[in-house]
Amino acid sequence: INVFYQPLERIAAVIENYPKGIAGFRRYQEFLTTEPEIIDRPGAVAAPAFKGAVAFEGVRFGYDPARPVLDGVSLSVRAGETVAFVGPSGAGKTTLLSLLPRFYEVDQGRITIDGHDIRDLTLASLRQQIGIVQQDVFLFAGTLRDNIAYGRLDATEDEILEAAHRARLDGLLADCPDGLDTVVGERGVKLSGGQKQRVAIARIFLKNPPILILDEATSALDTETERAIQASLQELARGRTSLIIAHRLATIRDADRIVVINGGGIAAEGAHESLIRAGGLYQRLHEAQDLALPNRTTA
Ligand code: ATP
Repeated sequence: INVFYQPLERIAAVIENYPKGIAGFRRYQEFLTTEPEIIDRPGAVAAPAFKGAVAFEGVRFGYDPARPVLDGVSLSVRAGETVAFVGPSGAGKTTLLSLLPRFYEVDQGRITIDGHDIRDLTLASLRQQIGIVQQDVFLFAGTLRDNIAYGRLDATEDEILEAAHRARLDGLLADCPDGLDTVVGERGVKLSGGQKQRVAIARIFLKNPPILILDEATSALDTETERAIQASLQELARGRTSLIIAHRLATIRDADRIVVINGGGIAAEGAHESLIRAGGLYQRLHEAQDLALPNRTTA
């Protein structure tokens, strides 16, 4: 690796390790200064390559342990399964998924991947195998190439282009005279929200992790962008364990399973049709078109 990459790599490591996932994937700045540091346990081992079976076993967690947000959550996800998480705003969907990369530590119970308690694994080897696509995508000042390759710093040009292609970035690359060397950010080309999201998707294609966490965007993008992003996200989810905080009916319908989070735990789970038939919260959320919207007033 080029020496110039080293500071970048270090910054990338910090961002990678503390994405906004922390506080509903939103406040990593604050996190850096206020949250207790999560570090490797003595004797932690590097994770083997995951197949991607994830199990939450009697998980209890509260930002203030005296007031649990989640309590008694048990859920087994098969390797390669796509699970859509829905539920009212503030129910704890983001919180639950932020426990998997260990942005927070469970207060009780445990989380395993392929049977390994995630606390027994090194953070780096755990997080290396989990890709996260958030609503607010963070790009750093630099070229498109840097921003994509940050998913895997040793990637070749061909691999970067392939990832860009799979993330439907060809149009953007064609429009930019400098292609992958186009500088983005403050001093460069300003990208739209949809374009930034596609850069983030390209990163994950390149990184190719067995587990994907996706916080689906709630903000409306224009229909064409929306379709392009949906298509690449679907491709991204294929062949990986995908845990999606779902806001789109299409995503929810395509999921192998839907998990309804409410009241600190799993209120219901199953396929779309069976949950509708069962009535209850899912059906009401569905009717209200309010499946997981964090903010009704702006939705
Ligand atoms: P939304 O759909 O609105 O994103 P959600 O189901 O993802 O909601 P969470 O963001 O996980 O819900 O929030 C669950 C609860 O935990 C809420 O009461 C929220 O206010 C609280 N919470 C979230 N992040 C933090 C934090 N960093 N510190 C303290 N409380 C938090």
